[in-house]
Amino acid sequence: MEENKYICPECGSEMMAVYEKPALNLTCPKCGCKIATTKWEDIDLDDTTYKIFLKPNRSPGTESIKFISKITGLNYINSRKLLENGGLISEEKAVEIKKQKIDLDLNNIKYTIEPMFPY
Ligand SMILES: [Zn+2]
Repeated sequence: MEENKYICPECGSEMMAVYEKPALNLTCPKCGCKIATTKWEDIDLDDTTYKIFLKPNRSPGTESIKFISKITGLNYINSRKLLENGGLISEEKAVEIKKQKIDLDLNNIKYTIEPMFPY
């Protein structure tokens, strides 16, 4: 993440920033001045609904099937069909999509996201 510098309005020293999502808390090490602000990242402000599509996989593993079942709420057989044929598994905002994307990668499941997912 890019580090921005924050200058204390009281004494002009560089403030220490502690980012506790979504609040950014600034403390001046010199005079003790504190500022709490809110910092939103692009992904938090993105109102686009993204869709995750599975790529067809002729022989999905048991772990993949269980994982897809967990995400979609489908039973084992339908989850396997979805993996074999490919298809839509998720329609969410960017923040959720990012979490699912990480899980899909961890489970080695191939997918595409529409529209193009920039995070
Ligand atoms: Zn200060």
